[in-house]
Amino acid sequence: MSKRDYYEVLGVARNASEEEIKKAYRRAAQKYHPDRNPGDADAERRFKEAKEAYEVLSDGGKRRIYDQHGHAAFEHGMGGHGPGPGFADVNDIFGDIFGDIFGGGRQRGGPRRGADLRYVVELDLEEAVFGAEKRIEVPTLAACGPCGGTGSEDGRLHPCRTCGGRGQVRMQRGIFAVQQTCPACGGRGQTVSKPCGQCNGNGRVREDKVLQVKIPAGVDTGDRIRLAGEGEAGLAGAPPGDLYVEVSVREHPIFQRDGDDLYCEVPVRFSQVALGADIVVPTLDGEVLIKIPKETQTGKLFRLRGKGVRSVRSHSPGDLLCRVVVETPVNLTARQRQLLEEFEATFEGDKAARHSPRSSSFLDGVKAFWERMTS
Ligand SMILES: [Zn+2]
Ligand SMILES: [Zn+2]
Repeated sequence: MSKRDYYEVLGVARNASEEEIKKAYRRAAQKYHPDRNPGDADAERRFKEAKEAYEVLSDGGKRRIYDQHGHAAFEHGMGGHGPGPGFADVNDIFGDIFGDIFGGGRQRGGPRRGADLRYVVELDLEEAVFGAEKRIEVPTLAACGPCGGTGSEDGRLHPCRTCGGRGQVRMQRGIFAVQQTCPACGGRGQTVSKPCGQCNGNGRVREDKVLQVKIPAGVDTGDRIRLAGEGEAGLAGAPPGDLYVEVSVREHPIFQRDGDDLYCEVPVRFSQVALGADIVVPTLDGEVLIKIPKETQTGKLFRLRGKGVRSVRSHSPGDLLCRVVVETPVNLTARQRQLLEEFEATFEGDKAARHSPRSSSFLDGVKAFWERMTS
């Protein structure tokens, strides 16, 4: 069978960049990897083909030679003729270019570190702003008490005979040697003769861990607090993982938060904004009085400097922005009604516009609009 062109194998152009070649190889290797296509000879052939092409095209020197002389340049010595030197261990090439895809839990020998955990803690705005102590219950795998996490009833451990204590075994799959977690000891490298009755020899037990977490002042939704060593227990004395406590701040009935600033809406009476008034607004540390000047329009924002939030990342607190919103009075008494009718009567005639700046510019706009439409 004659060999396919290496560029064709990877599906890239002859002037493809190193990055393009790497990407194309990753794609092919993921698709045809023997772990994903057990017993599929065609996939295995394509995987091998892609790897061979990548070995040449990813190496500047080899690629130049290949470009000039084609496959002939490589007939002797390297690659091309089944498993040869440098083609023994699939993991070796994954080490550098695959990392997270296949490499995840592949550690060579030794027991594995416990998994990291994530826990979402819900906070009120006040707790997020001022900090809090929260008691949380995290379902986790903890080291078994009676055996101290060893899984051994009598506390004794023996090196695993299957893997020689390395925790990993090499399996031959066709032409590939694949490194795997030792099935006899589960990667621990050690076995026990008498398993602990409490944990069945696992060394870990399901447990709801209760923790008291100190939430620093100024956190916001999405912030994470790392509690080193509070994740799952490791296997056979390996270090535990970490616990990440993620903050989620509940909606507040009065304040909306935007970074360091807080917003709130303050309902006011029409007469208050017309005449001017001192009104009470809430802040996170008590009420304050703000002066509303006379003839203030609805929707106006009043900024209270430094009454916002001091976040964990900033040095000074943000501001509180209060928006005054005019509320229409309801349940009017006869007297109120009469006064308003008298008040309304004062707007009749040509002078109305001078008391209503927005209405008059609105009406002018409408008039101009109709004129454009009908002309
Ligand atoms: Zn073993
Ligand atoms: Zn135990």
